[in-house]
Amino acid sequence: MIRSYPMYVHAGRNDAGVNPMPWIDTHCHLDATEFDADRDAVWQRARAAGVTIGVLPAVQVAHFERVRELAHRHGLAYALGIHPLFVPRAKDEDLECLGEALQRWRDDPRLVAVGEIGLDFFVHDTDPERQERFYVAQLKRARDAGLPVIVHVRKSADQLLKGLRRIEVPGGICHAFNASEQQAGLFVERGFRLGFGGAMTFDRALNIRALAASVPAHAPVLETDAPDIPPHWLYRTAAERAAGATSRNEPAELPRIAETLAELRGWSIEETAATTRANALSALPRLAPLLAS
Ligand SMILES: [Zn+2]
Repeated sequence: MIRSYPMYVHAGRNDAGVNPMPWIDTHCHLDATEFDADRDAVWQRARAAGVTIGVLPAVQVAHFERVRELAHRHGLAYALGIHPLFVPRAKDEDLECLGEALQRWRDDPRLVAVGEIGLDFFVHDTDPERQERFYVAQLKRARDAGLPVIVHVRKSADQLLKGLRRIEVPGGICHAFNASEQQAGLFVERGFRLGFGGAMTFDRALNIRALAASVPAHAPVLETDAPDIPPHWLYRTAAERAAGATSRNEPAELPRIAETLAELRGWSIEETAATTRANALSALPRLAPLLAS
């Protein structure tokens, strides 16, 4: 896999202090308002750090055009979906809009998945039944379009699996994965890969670190979820943030985040890049021709 990218393959670090391997950020919200002031520079920094491609999942219909446009502008990939935490403000017709957009852009090579969809039962003031209805409806759209899904899972692994048993989609990625080892196994059996990012860099994230270390080698993919889930070196306390400090995460952090996965698994950086890359390509097959072009 890695031999087709000889320009990046050398041991050690580059001048910026990051490992110069070809990385894939499988989950990056480059459309978020946090990047309004310097969006182009953010992706330039990522590219300079060796992040060759990113996947931009939409969270609401109003951003469908935006993620598509950004993906085309920067040579990236995108996904279309309604995020569970955006379901309360979504309209029922938005599900039709998703179906139409998937149809309209089905030949766009940069459209690689349906997402970000899922269930979030951590936040209590949401309507779980409506979330489930949107989740199931979006799984059906993915199945009909033949696309994998990018799934948001928070205190909801069993209910998500229930939906996946009913509606068979061609696999995908469970993003920011944090559930039991058994639940991890059930997703992996269904052809899913598991996303690991900044959360795994915190020593106290015992469960996530144990999962990152122990899931089968074909399971982990890397992601930043930028601007969210900052790694420990960007983390600021609430008091620091109140005083004006920011803790914005960026796709350029991916290579340093990858070092944690390498340590946890006992892999070399080269092995980590090659394995997570192969895993991302098998979860999202439409990425492969984008990398070759
Ligand atoms: Zn996300």
